[in-house]
Amino acid sequence: ASRFDNITMAPPDPILGVSEAFKADTSDMKLNLGVGAYRTEELQPYVLKVVKKAENLMLERGENKEYLPIEGLAAFNKATAELLFGADNPVLHQQKVATIQGLSGTGSLRVAAALIERYFPGAKVLISSPTWGNHKNIFNDARVPWSEYRYYDPKTVGLDFDGMIADIKAAPEGSFILLHGCAHNPTGIDPTPEQWEKIADVIQEKNHIPFFDVAYQGFASGSLDEDASSVRLFAARGMELLVAQSYSKNLGLYAERVGAINLMQLSGNPDFFNEWKEEMEMMAGRIKSVRQKLYNNLSAKDKSGKDWSFVLKQIGMFSFTGLNKAQSDNMTDKWHVYMTKDGRISLAGLSAAKCEYLADAIIDSYH
Ligand code: PLP
Repeated sequence: ASRFDNITMAPPDPILGVSEAFKADTSDMKLNLGVGAYRTEELQPYVLKVVKKAENLMLERGENKEYLPIEGLAAFNKATAELLFGADNPVLHQQKVATIQGLSGTGSLRVAAALIERYFPGAKVLISSPTWGNHKNIFNDARVPWSEYRYYDPKTVGLDFDGMIADIKAAPEGSFILLHGCAHNPTGIDPTPEQWEKIADVIQEKNHIPFFDVAYQGFASGSLDEDASSVRLFAARGMELLVAQSYSKNLGLYAERVGAINLMQLSGNPDFFNEWKEEMEMMAGRIKSVRQKLYNNLSAKDKSGKDWSFVLKQIGMFSFTGLNKAQSDNMTDKWHVYMTKDGRISLAGLSAAKCEYLADAIIDSYH
C-alpha cells in the first residue's frame, strides 16, 4: 500500500480521445474534425513561416535562456497588451493595464482563477452554457464557485441573447462574467456589436467584472483589431476587467505553452509583424472558405428545406452543427468523421476537397 493510493487518475481528455479513435480508423474517407488545431488544405499541421524565421533569428543572435523576471518578459508583456487593446489605446499610456506572462491560455486562466480565489473569496464566475470544457476544470481546481448563463439556443442554433442577459442580471452583484472575446468555443456564435453593448450595460449595472478569454484574436476574422473589438468596447467604457490571452491558434504555437519568445521578436520587427498578419489572415481565410463551401453543399444537397444559414453566421474555427449525440455517433461510425459528441466540428480540420463528403455525412446523420 502507498500513501498515494487514493490519488485518482484525471479523466482522459475527450478531444484527445477523438484523435486516438481517428488514428485507429483505417478508412480512406476518414476526417478529423475534433481537435481545434489548424490544418492545411492537405490536412497537415502548419508551422507559420514567420515563426520559423523568428526561431532562426533567435538562434543566429545566440539568445540565452537566463531567468526572466517574475512577471515574465517585459517586451512580450508590452506587445501582448498592445495587440489586445491597440497600441494607441489611452488605457495603456495611462498605465492602467498590468500584464504578466502565463502558460498559454489555460495557464493564464488558471492564474486569474487563483487571483479570484485569493482576493475575491466567495465571488462567483459565470460561464456560458456551453463553454470550452476546461473552464469548469480550471475553476473547480482553483476552488472558485461557478454557474452557467444561457448562451446557446438549440432552436435557432444561435445565441439565446435574452437568456444570457437575464442570467447575467440575476447573478450576485460583483460576479465575474467569463466572456469569449471572439469565436466562441464550442458554438462559433458571437454576440453582434449591438449585443455586446447591451452585455456591457448589464455588467456595469450589476457591478460585475468582465473576464475575457481571448484564444482566437485575429484567427477568427483575420483581423487582430476586429477580433479584439469586444474587449476594447468594455475598456473604452472604463470598466475594470480581466483578459486571458493565448497564442496557440493565431501563431500556431500549440505545443509551446509560452508564445513569448517568438512574440518578442515580432514586436521588435515590423516586417515580421506584417508577415504574421498575412499568414494569420490566410489561415482565417481558408477556414472561412471551407465554411462557405460546406454551407453551399448543405443547402444544395439537402432537399428537406432545412435552413443551414447558421453555418455561415458562426465564426472562427468551430461550428455547432446541431447534431445530437446519436447523430454525431452516426457521423463517426458510418462516415468516419471524428468530432466531439456535442455536435461541434472544427472547420480547421476540413479541406475544400472534403466539403461535399462532409455535407453528405451531415445530411445523412440529421435525417
Ligand atoms: N480558451 C478557449 C475558449 C479555447 O478554445 C482554448 C483552446 O482551445 C483555450 C482557452 C486555451 O488554449 P491554450 O491553453 O492551448 O492556449
